[in-house]
Amino acid sequence: MKNKHGDPKHQISTQLTQLGRDPEEQCGFVNTPVYRGSTVIYKSLQDIEARKARFHYGTSGTPTIANLEDAWSQISNAAGTVMSPSGLGAVALAIFTTVKAGDHLLMPDCVYRPSRNFCNGMLKKFGVETTYYDPLIGKDIEKLIKPNTSTIFLESPGSQSFEVQDVPGIVSVAKKHGIKTIIDNTWATPIFFKAHDHGVDLSVEAGTKYLGGHSDLLLGMVSANEETWPALRATYDSMAMLPGAEDCFLALRGLRTLHLRLKEAERRALEIANWLKSRPEVSKVLHPAFPECPGHEFWKRDFTGSSGLFSIVLKDEFTKKGLASMLDNMSIFGMGFSWGGFESLVIPFNCAEYRTVTNWNPGGLTLRLQIGLEDVEDLKQDLAEGFKRLKQDS
Ligand SMILES: *Cc1c(COP(=O)(O)O)cnc(C)c1O
Repeated sequence: MKNKHGDPKHQISTQLTQLGRDPEEQCGFVNTPVYRGSTVIYKSLQDIEARKARFHYGTSGTPTIANLEDAWSQISNAAGTVMSPSGLGAVALAIFTTVKAGDHLLMPDCVYRPSRNFCNGMLKKFGVETTYYDPLIGKDIEKLIKPNTSTIFLESPGSQSFEVQDVPGIVSVAKKHGIKTIIDNTWATPIFFKAHDHGVDLSVEAGTKYLGGHSDLLLGMVSANEETWPALRATYDSMAMLPGAEDCFLALRGLRTLHLRLKEAERRALEIANWLKSRPEVSKVLHPAFPECPGHEFWKRDFTGSSGLFSIVLKDEFTKKGLASMLDNMSIFGMGFSWGGFESLVIPFNCAEYRTVTNWNPGGLTLRLQIGLEDVEDLKQDLAEGFKRLKQDS
């Protein structure tokens, strides 16, 4: 193994096995160890005065964190990456990088709800105004731009509702007006969508989901293009909100199988989604790879795959009571937030509770499914039995 930077000539699966580790620096051992530490010892007065060391102090990083950052930058085609203790923390870090008091921010109406809360609470408190926009607005976003608009935020596909955005279209408008773009790319990860290749300045991913992959850590990444990297790093350094060493170690471990798990999640989710489409209880499957998903054409044009999370709309004859009977008695699917782990999950949702500029009227109860690594036939069986209870008790 020649270097820890991988070889861009190699396929992504090969790169993921090599990035972010250097046995020569690790007494020959394969994996980067967990470095814990606050204090870094300098060799001389001259060195400490000049801060001459690869790492200055625990808040500026450790080899464990730096290896993870470097690996993520490489697979994202980014100039640099910083880590945050959660995905939501990464959203906040990205936005703090591009806004200041008095600025205006554009947010898609389908955005992850806690990101919305951050804008409506924290940003408002610091004098930043947020306008929500239809995620399918495309280049017409130009009409919403004000003289003080500094940032357009995107999330594609949208949380729960899965609208796919015209990222290159919106980015071209932003560039024309000197506005920064941030995308929440958690669903696709850089494996299925390379945000920076599409001109996005900052890309946010919740490492809690697919990078962790085992529902046992919280982590966020923000990667930047060349132009935005110095501002991102400065924002990060001013707050030093960094994840724990153990979580970064687990994320580096997750990196090795990220491609494998995503491809498997994709295959299983497509199989289940196709099966659900044929079920009489289901009126619509909201999966970016399906033509009936809003913005499907952008998924087809810009993405190289689909992950294991999608939603369904049930026929309108079913009731909350039937749904409770279905969900309370599932034998494999668990009910819980988050996703991207090895286990299958299902949650009910209702976007109408929080949307402000687009209507959410799907015509039936809605469920979001995360497809894990269980046997596909077992999962279908669990859902089929659930549908039976749904019908019986509605
Ligand atoms: C889960 C999620 C986040 C937040 O990640 P946490 O680590 O749970 O804070 C942000 N954006 C999207 C789209 C998510 O699904």
